[in-house]
Order: sequence, then C-alpha cells, then structure tokens
Amino acid sequence: MTKPLTIVWFRQDLRIADQPALRRAVDRGGVIPVYIWAPEEEGDWPLGGASRWWLHHSLASLDEQLRERGSRLIIRRGPTQAMLDGLLEETGATAVYWNRRYEPAAIERDKQVKATLLSRGVPAESFNGSLLHEPWTVVTKQGGPYQVFTPFWKACLTADVRHETLPTPREVTSPAKWPKSLSLDELELLPSIPWDAGFYNAWNVGAPAAERRLQQFISEAIARYHEDRDRADVDGSSLLSPHLHFGELSPRQVWTAVEKELAKSQALKSKSGKGAEVFLKEVGWREFAHHLLYHFPQTPTEPLREQFRHFPWRRSQQDLRAWQRGQTGFPIVDAAMRHLWVTGYMPNRMRMVVASFLTKDLRLPWQRGAEWFWETLVDADLANNTLGWQWTAGCGADAAPYFRVFNPTMQAEKADPDGEYIRRWVPELAKLPTKRLREPWTATAEELAAAGVQLGMNYPPPIVDHHEARDAALAAYEKIRAS
Ligand SMILES: Cc1cc2nc3c(=O)[nH]c(=O)nc-3n(C[C@H](O)[C@H](O)[C@H](O)COP(=O)(O)OP(=O)(O)OC[C@H]3O[C@@H](n4cnc5c(N)ncnc54)[C@H](O)[C@@H]3O)c2cc1C
Repeated sequence: MTKPLTIVWFRQDLRIADQPALRRAVDRGGVIPVYIWAPEEEGDWPLGGASRWWLHHSLASLDEQLRERGSRLIIRRGPTQAMLDGLLEETGATAVYWNRRYEPAAIERDKQVKATLLSRGVPAESFNGSLLHEPWTVVTKQGGPYQVFTPFWKACLTADVRHETLPTPREVTSPAKWPKSLSLDELELLPSIPWDAGFYNAWNVGAPAAERRLQQFISEAIARYHEDRDRADVDGSSLLSPHLHFGELSPRQVWTAVEKELAKSQALKSKSGKGAEVFLKEVGWREFAHHLLYHFPQTPTEPLREQFRHFPWRRSQQDLRAWQRGQTGFPIVDAAMRHLWVTGYMPNRMRMVVASFLTKDLRLPWQRGAEWFWETLVDADLANNTLGWQWTAGCGADAAPYFRVFNPTMQAEKADPDGEYIRRWVPELAKLPTKRLREPWTATAEELAAAGVQLGMNYPPPIVDHHEARDAALAAYEKIRAS
C-alpha cells in the first residue's frame, strides 16, 4: 500500500528541526513541502524589502536541507487557497498541515483555509511551532489577557509546560512524482537596487547558521549578556531575532539549549547563570509581544492606550527623512539609523534611543517609525515591532511612561563609552575627540577643523535642541493627560 501524502505548508517555520507540522507529516507518510508566496494576503503589512531579502536566502537554505533528506521545496505564488487546491488535485495528497501564525490577517486567512479544506473532507491541521506559550493559553485570574509583562512572565514560568523539542526527521519521503515548482528567482524577492550589499557581510541565513549562532552565543557571550546587551559597540546579544522571526530556530530549541547551560553553570556554581536568566526573560518579551498582538489586533496601527489617539503629533516629511537617513545631527541616532540601513539590524538599546528621538524629540507619530523599521529590518516582526514602538512612545501595554525621554548624549556615553560605534557608522566625525563626538556642535572651531568636520557641510547641525524638544513633548503629553 502506498503511504498517504501530506502537504506541509511552510510559512514562518523555515526549518527541519523541531518542526511540528513536518514531523507529523513525516510520521504519516510522504510529504510535499510547499512555500506559497502571497503578499497580498498579509493585510497592511506585506513583507518589507529587508525581510524579502532574508526570505529569499532562507527558502534557498530550506530547499537545501530538504534535499539532504531526499526531498525538496515546491514554490508557488498565491492565492493560497487556489494553490493548495491545485496541489491537492495534482499530487493526490490527502491532508494539509502547517504551523500557526498570530498576525491578524494571517489568522483570518488561515481560518478560512482550514474551514474550506475541512468542508471538502481534507484533514487540515495546524500546530504550535513558533511560541513557548500560545496567546490564549496564558490568562489572568479574571480570564483575560495580560497587559503587564512581569505577571505574564511569572504565569508562563509557573505553567505546567515542558519545552521539549521534537526529533528531527532523518529522511523526508517524496511523492512518486514531484509537482511543478517556480524557481526561487521567479518570486523576485531580492532588491532591484543593490542596497543589500552589507547584509551579505552581516548575516548567514538559514537554520544551520541559526543553530551555530545559538551555540556560539551560549559558549561565548551569554555569561556577560546581562551586562553587554545594552552596549552598542560590542555584539553583546544573541543576534537571533531574524532566525526566530522566520522560524529557522524555534524558541523551544533556544530554551532547551539555554537550560542545559544553566544547569551546567549551577553545577559549577559559576555566575554565568545570571546572563542566561536575563536572556530567557527577553525571549519572554517575544512571547508577551505575541500575546498582545493576538488579544489587541488593532495595535500595529492604533495606540493601545486610548488617550494617545488625541496626541498632537507633528507632521514633517523633512524631519522624517533626516531621521531615516541618519542625518539628524545627533551622532548616536545617526550611527544607529545608518547601521540599520546597511545591515538590516540595530541593537535593542539603539532601537529605543532612535524611537524615543522620533516620537519625543521630533514628536513624529510612532507609526511612521514602525513602518520604516518594517521596511528595513531583517527581523521585522509585527508583534515585536508593535510592542517596541508602543513601548517607547509610551502608548502601549507596560510601556515606558511618555515623560521618559532618552537623552541621546547620555545614552551614547553608556552604550558607546569610547565612541567606537559612532566612529564606525558616522566616519565623517571619526577624528573628533571622544568627548566632542557625541555633541559635535559643542566642539571649538579648532577641534572641528583638526577633525575635518564642517557642520552644515559634511555633517548636519542638530535638527532640534534636545532640551527644548523635550519640554515641548512633555507639554503636549500634559494636554492629553489633562483631557
Ligand atoms: C522600537 C523597537 C522596535 C523593535 N522591532 C523589532 C522587530 O521588528 N523584530 C524583533 O524581533 N524585535 C524587535 N524589537 C525588539 C528587540 O530590539 C530585538 O528583538 C533585539 O534587538 C534583537 O536582537 P537579538 O536577537 O540580539 O536579541 P537578544 O537580546 O539576544 O534577545 C533574544 C531574542 O528575544 C527576543 N527579544 C529580545 N528583546 C525583545 C523585545 N524587547 N521585544 C520582543 N522580543 C524581544 C528576540 O526574538 C531576540 O532575538 C524592537 C524593539 C524596539 C525598541
């Protein structure tokens, strides 16, 4: 008897290891691994340019991993329902499996696909491949969603859940005949202008690279994570965010690998456990972000805190452009924005600094910042990005209060004490003495001349006065608070 065939619909789970949909399909029989490109089904948030770059390379890597196991990846261009229907008919497959997503548009689409398949008698099953705790499994005593991180995370940690990974299939059985596939290039995911050159230096895409990165982070950096994660000048964090977003690595894989390290450090009575604990808490923020997005699906565009609907945001295309291009005249902000443009990444502390600058110093809407990050981050993630922007703007759940305005100079002193980060990304200021580097407008004419800096010519003067801008932001906040 021939084995039943299952279509595995890959999405943000581009891996073989700890892949529930694939594992179940392999156990059932033959497998047709499929990726369907349907950007028009992503609602207001079709993939940005940097994410499309990542996706291209991640799909190539997934195909390679499948081929090593005797299989391959079939690529189709949407709409999803029609593509799945076509494949079921062409191949004789009798079931469709996938791992769940949590973005509002994806949930809607998936529900419809599932209902349609089931109504035709095709078993359609979805699994949890992306989270430790799915959003509806963690509820307050009153049965509602959490809006504060600490009790949310406490509830997760005390939940009776074991984060075990699934065995990786050694072989993935092929169908007797492969259906047709588009070539990856036909999806045209790579940018037509070469702004991605720096991405190639910065990243190794795909699950094997993600697993290596995780091991390297655990053995080399996790012990110092709690101290280094806020530094801009050293790679103090894991750099796993794009791998986690595209599901090249599951959070269960991360969790079990780190727990192993924690157990080791406890046995050795070493202090390295502190870094591991703080790191797992950050993975917890990712869980919290998905919890919030699921329960408050309007938040990618609407503030969670209602009063912020009436906030008097400014409108200035010119200031927005200066921020996007790293031309604000505030070197730490400009360094971070250029870092983002060149590599598709920015460290967490820098994301907070530039987001505070946009929403408080420039008083531009946080949604404009979220959109730019969406386009330029390789780890652009609707849940994490929404949480990050609403947190910094002060209008989200468990957010920094609006009156907390980051001072760019002080942030630069802490995150980049020797000025290495600024010198790297804003090379026109590299020759300034460190104490002037953060505030070139305070340098004397001689210092500027000696460093070859001409303010207004090869580097802009600051586009706002930070102290005046801070006062104006606080006054605007007082107005909505009073109303
Ligand atoms: C304005 C703003 C926008 C952001 N946009 C995104 C985004 O689009 N995509 C994204 O993945 N992260 C986003 N973050 C969160 C965070 O900055 C990144 O996850 C982190 O910098 C990625 O680097 P890392 O992998 O080295 O993180 P690590 O510090 O090593 O953390 C490990 C993992 O935990 C998760 N994580 C860490 N911090 C957070 C956080 N604050 N919120 C949610 N998850 C977190 C990530 O998956 C990360 O890979 C944003 C933060 C801010 C302030």
